[in-house]
Formats: sequence, structure tokens, C-alpha cells
Amino acid sequence: MIEINDVLVRRELLIAPFQNSVPALFLDRDGVVIEDCHYINDPEQVQLCHGARELVASAREQGWPVILVTNQSGISRGFLGWDDVNRVNQQRMVDLLGADAPIAAIYANGYGPNAPKDSWRKPSPRMILDAADVLNLKLDCSLLIGDRLSDIQAGVAAGLAGLFHVLSGHGREVRPSILRWQAQASQSAPQVKFLDGLDSFPLETFQLASRLIHRN
Ligand SMILES: [Mg+2]
Repeated sequence: MIEINDVLVRRELLIAPFQNSVPALFLDRDGVVIEDCHYINDPEQVQLCHGARELVASAREQGWPVILVTNQSGISRGFLGWDDVNRVNQQRMVDLLGADAPIAAIYANGYGPNAPKDSWRKPSPRMILDAADVLNLKLDCSLLIGDRLSDIQAGVAAGLAGLFHVLSGHGREVRPSILRWQAQASQSAPQVKFLDGLDSFPLETFQLASRLIHRN
């Protein structure tokens, strides 16, 4: 495993790597799994988004690991420390999700908008690519759900099979920009699918995407 020497990125593995590669569900954290409370540092403020627990549990039932990929610019802005992020993730979010809806890994990037070009900050695909490398994930069958354009762009850059945009978090305010982006995106990029929230995610997608594995 590549050692991370950058103090502004975190990789938290909660499962062992897979022997044979599997597809994964990548989820943004703020505004997708938990309500976006702007630089949240108090575990007591954590609230799951509607449908988060059920979706993570469904992914698990289908044998899909769920990986969180989150930009936490509050770290470099000085609003948060990694201890705050860990408390929110480990003490509260993972707890609220419960044993039936386990998270396989949490990736976090602490850089802000002035991040160097090769940083892990989305829209860079680097958090997704690292997870694939470390856990043995099959990206061309994998899915991502996000509320910002940078989530979707990271998924496209990582070569994922399916990208979903939700209206929770910043989703409602940025949906017009995603529609515009999609209209101009490369024909080879997968079409973004638009959802109201996680509770309207079509669960049959897991099986449809898994079939890609056998075709590849
Ligand atoms: Mg978000």
C-alpha cells in the first residue's frame, strides 16, 4: 500500500482488501450521506440524509462496498481538525448508519480551492483511484452519488460506470449547472442520472452494473 505523507489527506480503511475485484458505490458525505451543516465539527449535529442507511444496507446486501469520498476544505481553512472529522465520521455517522449499513472506507481531502493540481480534492479522481488500488475495486462497473458538480466530474475522471446527482445538500442549487455541464460533456462520458434523494435510487442498478463485470 502506498504510504500517505500528505497531512491534508486521510485514508481510513474499515475492511480488508478484496481478493477478487468488485464494483463499489462511492458516496460523497456532506449533503449525500449526512446533512450538510457547513464545516460540521460537532458529532451531535450529525443527521443522516433520508434514505442513506437503507441505501448503504442495500449495497451491502448486494456485496457492494460503500466508499465515502469527501472534500473537507475546513481543514486547510482552519475551521476543523482531523480529530473533528474523525469524531463526526467514526463516533456518529458510522454509528447512526448501524451494523447493517457499514462503510468500507472513508477518504477525505483537506485542501481548499487553491489546492495543487495533483491534490486529492474533487474533481480530482485521486481518492477514487486510490480506493480502487488499495481495496481492489472494479471502477468500470462502479457507481457514484454526489450533490456537487465536482463529485460528478471526479466520477467521470475515474471512469465509473454510473453517476447520480441528488437534490439534497447543494444539489438543488447546482442542478442547473450540472445539466449545462452534461449538455457539453464528452459523448463517451456516462449520462448523469438525476434523483430527488437517495431514497429514489433504483436498487436494480446494482444488478445491472454487476452484469457489466461478466461482459468485460
Ligand atoms: Mg457534498
